Amino acid sequence: MDYLPLFLDMRDRLVIVIGGGVVAHRKTELLLKAHARVRVVAPQLCADLAVYRDLGRIEHRPLLFSASQLDGAALVVAATDDEAINDAVARAARERGVLVNVVDDGSRSSFIFPAIVDRSPLIVAVGTSGSSPTLARRVRTQIEALLPERLGQLALYAGRWREAVRRALPEMPARLRFWDNFFNSPVAASLVAGTAAAADETMRLALDQARTAAAERQGEVYLIGVGPGDPDLLTLRAQQLLQQADVLLHDRLVPDAILGRARRDAQRVNVGKSPGQHEHTQEYINQLMLEHARAGKRVARVKGGDPFIFGRGGEELQVLRDAGIPVVVVPGITASLGAAASAGIPLTLRGCSQAVTLVTATGSNSGSLNWHALASAQQTVVFYMSAAQTDHIVSQLLAHGLRAAQPVALIERATWPDERVLKSTLGELGALARAARLLSPTLLVVGEVAALAQVRGLVGEHDAPQAVQAKNGEQE
Ligand code: SAH
Repeated sequence: MDYLPLFLDMRDRLVIVIGGGVVAHRKTELLLKAHARVRVVAPQLCADLAVYRDLGRIEHRPLLFSASQLDGAALVVAATDDEAINDAVARAARERGVLVNVVDDGSRSSFIFPAIVDRSPLIVAVGTSGSSPTLARRVRTQIEALLPERLGQLALYAGRWREAVRRALPEMPARLRFWDNFFNSPVAASLVAGTAAAADETMRLALDQARTAAAERQGEVYLIGVGPGDPDLLTLRAQQLLQQADVLLHDRLVPDAILGRARRDAQRVNVGKSPGQHEHTQEYINQLMLEHARAGKRVARVKGGDPFIFGRGGEELQVLRDAGIPVVVVPGITASLGAAASAGIPLTLRGCSQAVTLVTATGSNSGSLNWHALASAQQTVVFYMSAAQTDHIVSQLLAHGLRAAQPVALIERATWPDERVLKSTLGELGALARAARLLSPTLLVVGEVAALAQVRGLVGEHDAPQAVQAKNGEQE
């Protein structure tokens, strides 16, 4: 992070604006909105600034810049079109230890103005650390579209209740839950729509209920599938529930970028199993879920892909049901769908593949697989958790009738920035897998459609030490 975002209380603080043109006017307008005291130092003022002066809203010093004019300033803005003056202002401000912004010149500035979405008291500030103001404005436009015009009213209303809620619900998790429910409620919707009636009455009732529920401490668990890795593939519901959870129990493969979508104060526990090290047993994970839920917490059990595809979500659901704990299951994009999309492999294709089978050939169950069915024509078979079984898979599929020329694709770290897509044939798969030194996680796709894969990355990309990990690299 190159810049620290802050919201400054500028009420009645002195800001010195150097320059009297339209750019200075733009900044002055913003500063006045924030109730700052603005003094403009410039020989002349543009028409709009002159109006402010005549209305007594700003103070005007009709002078050329000199360093002593910065005395007493809380902030300084250099908005002249003369680079030498802007530079002098910036240096003088820094010497005095006063924060300075040189408009459109990040290198001379000690702070920059963000792009703003103003739903006061709710304010969203967007910045790109000076790298692309245009991008910041685009993001602002997107956020503008997301936030209803009257959201500020909702924030004001919530602000009025804040103290009462704090007193009624002294425990943080209960309070968070109350506010989450409030913002999802019809009352909040009607406040935003400007049609609220009897909102206070509804709030009092909800608060009473929340107090009772907090006394009973009812927790719940969300089994959340977060997709194959790219945070953009999260569902909206996954994002919402990640935001609500008090505790996150996550697998090893869930990227930080996704965990970062959860509340900052949520407790995060990595219950993942590293390759070859099963330090956390399923039993332990189950116990942890139960303990936290019984303590009244909202627990997010965060899983890669979909919770019900090779994720042991089914077992966890059963344990929670048996314990009478409320569960919400959030589907996720399973790895094969993410991999197929990013590698350009249609899993079904008219006249080519009429069925998809998702299968795992890990040691314990590979003996019981119906290899005859897996080797039949006109279908796509996707192998999960099977990198260590490649030779076995190849020999079984060949023995059950697939051709050595059958197309296959390996997709490593699908949808991650360092994704690799490798293409081959069944006959050459073993050699390819060895040469590629695959990292975890990897999927194998077998079927005519694999020939359509868009190759990405090189076979010999990884160096040896990582490859050792890859050898035993499958988990869960
Ligand atoms: N519930 C998950 C699967 C868990 S099993 C899902 O629905 O996707 C773990 C296996 O999934 C890995 O061994 C690998 O085969 C596959 N996998 C998960 N994420 C992957 C990714 N980003 N790229 C390739 N394979 C992945």
